Amino acid sequence: MASIRCDEYGFDCSYSTMGEIEGVVLDYWKHMNDCHGIDYSRGTIGKFANKNVKCTAKKIRY
Ligand SMILES: [Zn+2]
Repeated sequence: MASIRCDEYGFDCSYSTMGEIEGVVLDYWKHMNDCHGIDYSRGTIGKFANKNVKCTAKKIRY
């Protein structure tokens, strides 16, 4: 499970998406294009999502 929140990356935006990592990356990539006009590479967004997976795992462990 992965998640991305737009406001974590400096946008004044309430968008968030969660689910399987492939879907999260695709959803967020579309959102960035449609709503912010930014064409991030999928690899960059994949790193955002991976970072959140690690954070979640840490929270569960402690
Ligand atoms: Zn946004």
